[in-house]
Amino acid sequence: MPSITFLGAAGTVTGSKHLLEYDGHRVLIDCGMFQGPREIRDRNWERFPIEPDDIDAVVLTHAHMDHIGMLPVLVKLGFRKKIFATYGTVGLCRVSLPDGGRLQEEEAKFRNKHGATRHSPALPLYTEADAYDTLKLMEPLHYHQWQELPGGAQFRYMPAGHILGSAFVEFYFANGERILMGGDLGRYDTPIIKDPSKVEFAEYLVIESTYGNRLHAKGEAKEMILEVAERAVRERGIVIVPSFAIGRTQELLWYCNELESEGRWPGLPIYVDSPMANKATLLYQETTEDHDHDMKIDMSEGNSPFRTDMVRMVRDSQFSKQLNTSPGPWMVIAGSGMCNGGRVLHHLKAHLDELTVTILFTGYQADGTLGRRLLDGEEEVRIFGQPVQVRAKIERLEMLSAHADYEEMLTWLRGFKSPPKKTFIVHGEPDASLAMQEHIHRELGWVTAIPTQGEKFELS
Ligand SMILES: [Zn+2]
Repeated sequence: MPSITFLGAAGTVTGSKHLLEYDGHRVLIDCGMFQGPREIRDRNWERFPIEPDDIDAVVLTHAHMDHIGMLPVLVKLGFRKKIFATYGTVGLCRVSLPDGGRLQEEEAKFRNKHGATRHSPALPLYTEADAYDTLKLMEPLHYHQWQELPGGAQFRYMPAGHILGSAFVEFYFANGERILMGGDLGRYDTPIIKDPSKVEFAEYLVIESTYGNRLHAKGEAKEMILEVAERAVRERGIVIVPSFAIGRTQELLWYCNELESEGRWPGLPIYVDSPMANKATLLYQETTEDHDHDMKIDMSEGNSPFRTDMVRMVRDSQFSKQLNTSPGPWMVIAGSGMCNGGRVLHHLKAHLDELTVTILFTGYQADGTLGRRLLDGEEEVRIFGQPVQVRAKIERLEMLSAHADYEEMLTWLRGFKSPPKKTFIVHGEPDASLAMQEHIHRELGWVTAIPTQGEKFELS
């Protein structure tokens, strides 16, 4: 009898790993890293919850680290079978996994040198070489293309509208029943990539609940970006946008380009100071099967909606440093999105104490990050061990979230023509998952379960 076991993102938002078992075969859906506070991250160092040799294939939903970040560990432990993903996801894995391995190695080296280590010696979770070994196992698939798996199961991908390459996995067991693995659900009417696909039937369903208890702020992201840009030009100020390299950066550039083509952009130069964001931006252009209608039109006219006269992609860190000392007005988009690392820290350190500076946050700021402390209005923060006064204006662009809120989740769920036998709610803090469950019970009357870590369910 088929079954599903929840090996991550159960009772928490990260570490997605779901194991499907049928007729002696095992397929792992996603292989994500635990992220966030230390006690959650430490779980990445625990024994891998399944023997790599026992897995027949890995099927990925999308390229966020909390869905792919442990792949190189699985490969390091001996996994040698296929890893399926959409073309967009494979492209983004090429950008982020080797980089992740290199950063891990650098961090371990740094800790060993400075004695700041809990493990002796400090070790990387995986290396750049492990990441390259992982990429060799990846098999790209187009959306809607059926793929056979050992034991007579098969699956196909459908666009999920979350980030480039993001997909639902429609998975058929050999007994003819299907489970829809939702991955992360994106939003409707956002630029660049297609909206979430409509799904009408599935016997079983797994959905996320990141925003199971929240609604996104309404309002026009574009107008807010314009307001901030106009003020910067007026005051000859600087705008620092801590941004996630994948998705958020491209959306921001899209809106800036739209404003420019409408003749409303006030001439503020934009620097994208993130090698990873620049690589991801190229992929967003090249992966045409993900493009929505407007993006297709732009591309067919030979325009890149991400590269305008105002935008400059910063490659070397030398230029990044020079930028810091040049007078405003200018805008810089740099990672990391929550200010817990990356080039954005140098920009913040240089300019947080200036009244004409605006820090424009583009997404969720987790507890314990510098981003959260700034949003919470702290007057002094520490960057690279030194105190910095906060005089800059702090603003947030909440509407750029890549995750559906609970209303948008319900809109998607209402597309089902008959209720699944059971809907599993994962990928949320406990309060958010519970709230999502209540919304589903009240609005749809479906049978649901909120799995706990390691919990197994027979699918019959
Ligand atoms: Zn995601």
